Amino acid sequence: MIVGIDLGTTNSLIACFSEEGPRIIPNRLGRNLTPSVVSVDEEGNIYVGETARERMSLYPDSVVSAFKRSMGTERQYNLSGHMYRPEELSSFVLRSLKEDAEVFLGEEVTEAVISVPAYFDDKRRKATKRAGELAGLTVERMISEPTAAAVAYGLYDKTRDTKFLVFDLGGGTFDVSILELYHNILEVRAVAGDNYLGGEDFTEVMGKLFMQKQKLAMSSLSEKEQVRLYKQAEKAKCAISGSDRVVMKCLIDGKELESEIKYREYEDACEELLNKIREPVKKSLSDAGLKLGDIDEILLIGGATRLSVIRDFLIRLFRKFPDTNMNPDEAVALGAAVQAAMKERREEVKEVILTDVCSFTLGTEVVVEYEEGKFEDGRFCPIIERNTVIPASHTERMYTVRDNQDKVRVRVLQGESRFARNNLYLGEMTIDLPKAPKGQESVDVTYTYDINSLLEVEVKVVSTGLNQKMIIKGVDNTMTDEEIAKRMEELAYLKIQPRDQEENRLVLLRAERMYEESLGDRRRNLDHYINRFEAALKGGDHQEIADTRRELSEFLDDDEDL
Ligand code: AMP
Repeated sequence: MIVGIDLGTTNSLIACFSEEGPRIIPNRLGRNLTPSVVSVDEEGNIYVGETARERMSLYPDSVVSAFKRSMGTERQYNLSGHMYRPEELSSFVLRSLKEDAEVFLGEEVTEAVISVPAYFDDKRRKATKRAGELAGLTVERMISEPTAAAVAYGLYDKTRDTKFLVFDLGGGTFDVSILELYHNILEVRAVAGDNYLGGEDFTEVMGKLFMQKQKLAMSSLSEKEQVRLYKQAEKAKCAISGSDRVVMKCLIDGKELESEIKYREYEDACEELLNKIREPVKKSLSDAGLKLGDIDEILLIGGATRLSVIRDFLIRLFRKFPDTNMNPDEAVALGAAVQAAMKERREEVKEVILTDVCSFTLGTEVVVEYEEGKFEDGRFCPIIERNTVIPASHTERMYTVRDNQDKVRVRVLQGESRFARNNLYLGEMTIDLPKAPKGQESVDVTYTYDINSLLEVEVKVVSTGLNQKMIIKGVDNTMTDEEIAKRMEELAYLKIQPRDQEENRLVLLRAERMYEESLGDRRRNLDHYINRFEAALKGGDHQEIADTRRELSEFLDDDEDL
């Protein structure tokens, strides 16, 4: 079976297509969301998800998160003295998801459809594919996240042509995409976004509002108090949706402080953030040549779209209610599973043609004659422009700039700058021309960019018909097949933790962290429950372990609510 995977910045999910339709596969802890967090200890043991996240406060140097942001870059992360690339860290998350799916399905899983943000360029998509390979998965197809969401909402089943806006507000990123469905083709028309805007900013606003009400300065808080404030602000932020006020409490300087925050106050305080959201919405619409009123449906993905301030803002902006039928965390993974079913040609789903957009401009370097006889070289000439629907093929004709010029060099570049030097170099080729006065000879340069991120470049001499082609599969940072195989071997010594002990380990880690954070009676009580649980673990009696674990967890839940 081909599975669908949402490899997210904050959380990842895996889904399959069952007889009842797409469904999320729970992880070893029985949860649908696996935090995209990885930790490696001194002995080379790997922890993924909740357990890795819980190690954060005890062993901060051994934990990383949000590495998806660096996908496709040269960045390396040091975890307890071992160095990892972003795709290697992602491969650990994928391996963990793959294992969970194998246990759930009772069969080996070797193929997957993985979602990627629509704006991911070639380098980042290839790095994602490599992450899959390192995890032992053949990546059958990559699907852009907004397309996956649209597919999950069942939009491919619509009979009427429709225009959608997919609004994706996660923890730290914001993406907006315009999609159009016509004649069974689902097309991404434009993408825009802000990489530094997300639900976390809305939490910060809540925290600041609380401090204002308490007439306290942020700078007066210790690091621990700041963490506490943030946690409480996060809770208050989630609670304020659907009610007109919330009471936020926080332990500062040994005292439990309390403030009531009204929905209106919070909404006003978020105004600056809401204005920031408006910009990418406008940009995507104008890139797609549409107006606000042209949008038929608004789909929400990303945890922060549960915020009422966001929903109310969208209703005011579009004078329309967004579709809220789906869990915004799960839509992308479910869509990837539907795409996997389409790939397998399952009868339950009809095949739709999914297109995508090129999220960057592809072009070449040219010499420009800006005045009679005066030339400037190093300029960039776009051939396939950003947000062009792919697969796409475009041709530009280029003329000689010197008398008797007998060669043309075509440099292939990616980027948005007017100057070639600022854009990313992907490759080049040179072709011979017959000698002639300047401007009389020409070449047609054709770029064909396909949905699997392969760029074919063809250069044809117009007068002689001589032509040359090349396919650009990779840019500098890619690993060859041999390199992947070698690195897989190197990583093989790393041991992903056995899944059956995961829950015990997680509870113990959480208890250890809270032990460090508490004092006095709380600490003594906690110690008592930890000892009981550890004794049960040593004894090996399953029932005893489950009982003492539950007791300890309940104690921790009550304690953390303080
Ligand atoms: P994601 O990256 O899609 O997992 O989204 C994470 C963001 O969603 C975080 O900023 C959370 O605070 C936010 N979030 C999750 N649940 C809620 C909720 N019920 N109300 C408001 N924000 C939420």
